[in-house]
Amino acid sequence: MIARTVFAANWKMHLGPQEARGYAERFLAAVAPRQGRELVFFPASVSVEAAAGAFAGRSDIRVGIQDVHWEAKGAFTGAVSVPMAAAAGASCVLIGHSERRHVFGETDEDTARKLRAVLAGGLTPFLCVGEKLPEREAHQTEAVVLRQLRTACAGIASGDLDRIVLAYEPVWAIGTGRTATPDDAALVHRSLRGALDVLGARHVPVLYGGSVNGGNIAGLLARPEINGVLVGGASLDPAVWADVIQAGDSVIR
Ligand code: PGA
Repeated sequence: MIARTVFAANWKMHLGPQEARGYAERFLAAVAPRQGRELVFFPASVSVEAAAGAFAGRSDIRVGIQDVHWEAKGAFTGAVSVPMAAAAGASCVLIGHSERRHVFGETDEDTARKLRAVLAGGLTPFLCVGEKLPEREAHQTEAVVLRQLRTACAGIASGDLDRIVLAYEPVWAIGTGRTATPDDAALVHRSLRGALDVLGARHVPVLYGGSVNGGNIAGLLARPEINGVLVGGASLDPAVWADVIQAGDSVIR
């Protein structure tokens, strides 16, 4: 039984520090805390500190970072480490987002190293898995997401695995306006839940992501297999995101 519903916003390469502060002010005025609902924002790394400061008064809101390097420091131009992210106010990290995997060439092994580094640093990893369209069409969805999950989690103790959040994000649904149906998503979520059970991790929320919006969120969250959402486009405007959350609230258990 997963006790909370997670609404996570991935701002991707949008909203600088000043814009993040303005967003937070409008969002806080629109969305009150609610029992059983956790809100997470993933700003661009340069905006993490501004967002963390702006949301600091709300214990139901966490701020994360969209990517980290697995080393703590060193000659890695352009990269940010876990301790740096934590110092800027991040308590969560997106790991293995499909844009990191497929635009920037991150491998399953890179993802595994990052997951370890985030757990070792005491932050919450949001591990993303998902199949590409040709993989879905070749009926490889389950094989792909389970490979991504198992490679990322190999050798991690179940107590630590219980600290992760998992997000199923079919690549063909991200930013395309195409969403998996609640039935399709629930099927994959059941496979992932089964694999987590085998790994001994029983408290991992499994989120769905990919073109979630105010019109489809209630249908997705109504499925008991879906413990929250990870949202890009529909989270970029605080009024729109507030409406999406309100639509989701109507089915929170
Ligand atoms: P989208 O992005 O909601 O814009 O499809 C989701 C994500 O990439 O996490």
